[in-house]
Amino acid sequence: MNEDSERRLALNEVLFRDTNEAIERGQWPQDPARVVRFRCECSRVDCGQAVELTLAEYEAVRRFPRRFLLAPSHVTPEIETVVSRTPTHVVVEKEDRPGEIAAATDPRR
Ligand SMILES: [Zn+2]
Repeated sequence: MNEDSERRLALNEVLFRDTNEAIERGQWPQDPARVVRFRCECSRVDCGQAVELTLAEYEAVRRFPRRFLLAPSHVTPEIETVVSRTPTHVVVEKEDRPGEIAAATDPRR
């Protein structure tokens, strides 16, 4: 995969992270055990898959600027490494250039 397509895929995921941050902010009450439907943060622009997890699980992903939340079958091994896997979602971490883009654009930093 060349650098341009890597960068494009990384930016798609960053966009879906922003969407999920807005979904989380819209939750009330902010109960950590509450199950919320987030968006899959994979690199497919046309992915509309919902991913359900608790606010506490979501917060655990967002503590790391290079980590993203995906539907179980949406991992792109060329640009990410699986950190954890549950029946409902997968957490991946970006390395190299995609990781730098993810960290540089983290809305929480
Ligand atoms: Zn997806």
